[in-house]
Amino acid sequence: MEVYKFGGASVKDAEAIKNVARIIADHGPEQLVVVVSAMGKTTNAMERVIAAYCKENGEAQAAFDVVKASHLATCEALFGADTSQQVYEDLREVFDQVESRLLLPPKAAYNFIYDQIVCAGELLSTILVAAYLNKEGVYTHWQDVRRCILTDNTYREGKVNWEVTNARVRKVLRPHLKAGARVVTQGFLGGTVEAFTTTLGREGSDYTAAILANCLDAECMSVWKDVPGILNGDPRLVEDAELLHQLSYHEAIEMTYYGAKVIHPKTIKPLHNKQIPLRVRSFKHPSEEGTRIHESSQTEFPPVVVFNKNQVLIRITTPDLSYVMEDTLSDIYQALAKYNIKTNLSQNGSVSFRVCVDDVAYKIEPLVEDLSEEYELELTRGIELITIRHYSDDAVDRFTKDKEILLTQKGKKNILMVVR
Ligand code: ADP
Ligand code: ASP
Ligand code: MG
Repeated sequence: MEVYKFGGASVKDAEAIKNVARIIADHGPEQLVVVVSAMGKTTNAMERVIAAYCKENGEAQAAFDVVKASHLATCEALFGADTSQQVYEDLREVFDQVESRLLLPPKAAYNFIYDQIVCAGELLSTILVAAYLNKEGVYTHWQDVRRCILTDNTYREGKVNWEVTNARVRKVLRPHLKAGARVVTQGFLGGTVEAFTTTLGREGSDYTAAILANCLDAECMSVWKDVPGILNGDPRLVEDAELLHQLSYHEAIEMTYYGAKVIHPKTIKPLHNKQIPLRVRSFKHPSEEGTRIHESSQTEFPPVVVFNKNQVLIRITTPDLSYVMEDTLSDIYQALAKYNIKTNLSQNGSVSFRVCVDDVAYKIEPLVEDLSEEYELELTRGIELITIRHYSDDAVDRFTKDKEILLTQKGKKNILMVVR
């Protein structure tokens, strides 16, 4: 059996969903689990609904009406205007769940509310994809993934309970696969023991697919993207980026760790643990090979560049000029862990410590508040982190041209530069 994952771009409208159905029919093996993200930019649109709801500015329903309208338009393009069809009924059920929540005062914690509402994106997209496959004669079972993937209660960044998830995934999904159904389910979502919804972090659908592939001992997992595969730089930013035909798990882990946006960083490990190959393929050219990630011993690579925009460099200084010692570092790392903040680069000085992290307001604001109680903080915003793996002098010159380098960290294979 195999697992396919289709991201937002691959299901952005009715034509895109028809293309997904063709790919499944033409390339999918008999036993297939299909993980689908929210359509296009729906998750961003749902974030606007949530922000309006929590601010209580009276604009939440109007923001949600935009999401409803786009899904209804896609539904009409796929199934026609007869709204008595089951697929419309299923969409309306999700609309009603969101709307009844929007009528209540936003009393709970923001991250909890976020997950309970943002999930509508994936629920809606999978309803459309599963119904369309069935309409096209591909026997398909729609599965609520929240009944399969159990997480803790870390809202917006749920930690997977592997033991329970493994048992549930097999128990719930295998009978459908055995009965000859393709399974369509949501990326990004999980559930708690109390049956609350959690999410696995933005762009987390790749990770969902890897979890399911691991639990089901898949032969292969494919993620279908708007690029030919993994290139040695984001083609939006590097004009002449080349396709990497194959990568070892280790190379892929390195690239995603340093922030290559093409695959979610948590995706590789569950696949590596079971030696499941990952293919990154183009939904525009489905017959092309793309990139294959597997146990490969290839060692020669061109320089691979990763741009991380929207970074903040935080300089943390002891107020009384005491040295930065283990206790200070322990304070800092505990605060970073508390808010689930990954350090993209850090550097220790005598009385100060510098750390470069993603500038995500909901994490950075409380971090700064906590650390400011004991330390002096200085924040530099609007900066970028450039990482070049397998770097060469030429590559460094090329990608830092016209930029001011604020900080450099150099190892044998990787160079990291904070630039402005
Ligand atoms: P999905 O539709 O699955 O959510 P993403 O948008 O998250 O897909 O990932 C695909 C995008 O990743 C591409 O459009 C491309 O701009 C970007 N990207 C960043 N780095 C790379 C890279 N090294 N190779 C290919 N694509 C990359
Ligand atoms: N829909 C979610 C997001 O946009 C998850 C994903 O697409 O992977 O972040
Ligand atoms: Mg994505």
